[in-house]
Amino acid sequence: MFGGKPRLRSALLPLICVLLPATTHASTMTNAQARHAQRASVARALFEFHSNFWVNLHQTLLEEALLRAGKPDRRLQANTPLAASQMSKLEESRWNAAVTFYETHFGTLRQHGNDQLIGINDMLAMQPDGGGSLDSTGLSPQLVAVLSEAAPVFRKYWWPAQQQSNMKWIASQRARVHDLGPGLAAAMGRDLRQPWPARPIHVDVCYYVPDIGFAFTILPPHITYASGDLSHQGLTGFELLFHEASHTFADVEQHALARACRAQGKDCGDLWHTLLFYTSGVELGRLLPPGERAGFTPYAYKYGLYTRGDWVRYHRVLATDWQAYLDGKASFDAAIRAMATHL
Ligand SMILES: [Zn+2]
Repeated sequence: MFGGKPRLRSALLPLICVLLPATTHASTMTNAQARHAQRASVARALFEFHSNFWVNLHQTLLEEALLRAGKPDRRLQANTPLAASQMSKLEESRWNAAVTFYETHFGTLRQHGNDQLIGINDMLAMQPDGGGSLDSTGLSPQLVAVLSEAAPVFRKYWWPAQQQSNMKWIASQRARVHDLGPGLAAAMGRDLRQPWPARPIHVDVCYYVPDIGFAFTILPPHITYASGDLSHQGLTGFELLFHEASHTFADVEQHALARACRAQGKDCGDLWHTLLFYTSGVELGRLLPPGERAGFTPYAYKYGLYTRGDWVRYHRVLATDWQAYLDGKASFDAAIRAMATHL
């Protein structure tokens, strides 16, 4: 689920940045001012949202290849291959050739943990958002040729609708990121004992992101997020965005759990991952206005994550031992040890 090599990202022109004003330090601050300052300092820029032509084309071709290979993931069950009745024979053959290339080279690979696919996605994310000629640096000549041939077809038939969906999603999340983002980032950083990344997290919003709807790279932080996924809309989508973000900076709890479980001879599996879901859900609930909080169901509850396999028992220790830590009734170390003991 982790992958990708560190890369420097330069000359990025963010389509939309979520920038909040920096705070100034006052020699004497009230508690409320101090909390506000803490929030503002971690959230000068939480995310940098992009709707990038080349990343969207690449993700669309991955999806088409999966559909053609007949092994769609659970989110693709209802999808059918793209088609446009007004396509010319030349356009049809160019598009089909691109899908065939993707089917042959990447057909049923999962993006998560696949260095090749993550590397391609990262390189495409460095291209200007609007498209234009493709900078081939770091990409295979074959892939560049395939993408360049498919680009006019994609731009003509599907990109406008995908772009619209992406921009709508970004616009729908902007107010939340501004209002709730600083507090949520600060709370998660405090709980997970690691600060939010110093630079804004690069988020590529794509209509399709086959696999499970999102992918992330650790260095530099890079999230690829599906605007077309129903579970990514509204407050649930906002929460999941922060869950994905936590993957890019939080590993202290993962290492602490691994050590504690090893010391006790336990296999803690992916309790660390369940913990990330649990934490963002709890903290977002705390930040919501009372009226909205009453109707809020965190993502993992809403989609039954805690009812599957080992996550049932993971949830049990999170709801007791980890919750005690989140409530200030236990230290981080004590909560980690207790979860390992009670698992
Ligand atoms: Zn995750």
